[in-house]
Amino acid sequence: MHMEGYRCLVCDAYVELSHSGMVCPSCGGNLDVVYNYENLKSVIRNELSLHAQRSDIFRYLPLLPVEDASLASPLHVGGTPLYRASRLGRRLDLDRIYIKDDGMNPTSSFKDRAGAIALVKARMSGAKVIAGASTGNAGSSIAGLCASVGQACVVFVPESAPRAKLIQLRSYGARVIAVRGTYDQAYDLCSEVSRRHGWFNRNTGMNPFTREGKKTSSFEMWEQLDNGVPDRVVVSAGDGNIISGIWKGWRDLYRVGLIERLPRIDCIQAAGSAAIVRAIEKVRNGHSGSASSILWRDVVIDPVAADTMADSISVDMPRDGMAAVRAVIESGGHAVTVTDEQIRQAQVELAGQGGIFTEPASAAAWAGLAKMAGQGMVRSGETMVCLLTGNGLKDAAKIEPALPALPVVEPDPSAVDPVIRDLL
Ligand SMILES: *Cc1c(COP(=O)(O)O)cnc(C)c1O
Ligand SMILES: [Zn+2]
Repeated sequence: MHMEGYRCLVCDAYVELSHSGMVCPSCGGNLDVVYNYENLKSVIRNELSLHAQRSDIFRYLPLLPVEDASLASPLHVGGTPLYRASRLGRRLDLDRIYIKDDGMNPTSSFKDRAGAIALVKARMSGAKVIAGASTGNAGSSIAGLCASVGQACVVFVPESAPRAKLIQLRSYGARVIAVRGTYDQAYDLCSEVSRRHGWFNRNTGMNPFTREGKKTSSFEMWEQLDNGVPDRVVVSAGDGNIISGIWKGWRDLYRVGLIERLPRIDCIQAAGSAAIVRAIEKVRNGHSGSASSILWRDVVIDPVAADTMADSISVDMPRDGMAAVRAVIESGGHAVTVTDEQIRQAQVELAGQGGIFTEPASAAAWAGLAKMAGQGMVRSGETMVCLLTGNGLKDAAKIEPALPALPVVEPDPSAVDPVIRDLL
């Protein structure tokens, strides 16, 4: 294994591999996994070729924090398609738009990338139970992966989680506990209960390994673009762990010498849940020098009272906020917000002009790209990947108000003509 230790994302302290806690021992900040990049430079191509017959995330084993894939779930995580979305792109006057459809994962969301690594780490640690807090998708993911190997798991969700997500989650046989409160309260409860009982806590942000799973999406984009680097990757953010994972993936490729430049990472949040976007604006307004001269320990991310129909990105206090802010500022990306109405519109567009049915939190990325195109913040000729993070069946009801009326007719051909007049 090439993992060497950790680097604190807030105070920059180096933390030894033997560290048994999850967060930084000096400041409590989230930790970024560090590899022996110098050593990797000379062996990476050869080592990647040893796993090239795999098509799931363990294809990238030399850049993962695990020894081998023997404790991994047999479910196929990752290896999701990258589509050239010409029709959708024309709508925005953009000609090089790609869509990465992570709704194609085994439990139908991007979270499987995180869960797959968390499961291996938990099994390596010998913990009896894996626990996690979730707005729905992270829970379904870890529950499904645990079911596939018979690992016990407990998932804390806000009582208000969408019904379809709760049903999926409970179907996997996990112990699901609905909390009378917000996602943030479920998160804190999960952390405390895990600590008391010595469970493996997969909570997003404080667990450094979820980001390591999520970064594999960037490795795939790189390969799917013929070892190319896009100009931008557009990502929706709640806790900010996906966006920081995407950035980590590109940084790792850069540091091992497989790529020579980095993409910009654009952050899209719901207007009613935009703590990361606000923090980015605040840093940019107060700082004129280069990103490398920013003192991250002085940056404060203010929580919000989240209010958006995009439940998967409805977050008061982003749990990987600092890493997300850094991803956008260090990469030179944009940070924009979109309204629930724009998100719903994006859902309709992705389905009706792209053939991809996606949930609101996922469609937010497309809504953001459309907004950036409308404001001239992106230009035709740039290669852009819009990351879609969850399947629309997860929460189908939310798109309904934006759909055209459903005609109901008698079972008689002459009753059909009036409703298909435009096709005749
Ligand atoms: C979790 C999730 C997100 C946001 O990821 P964060 O790491 O919380 O920023 C976006 N879309 C979907 C479908 C998700 O499940
Ligand atoms: Zn620290």
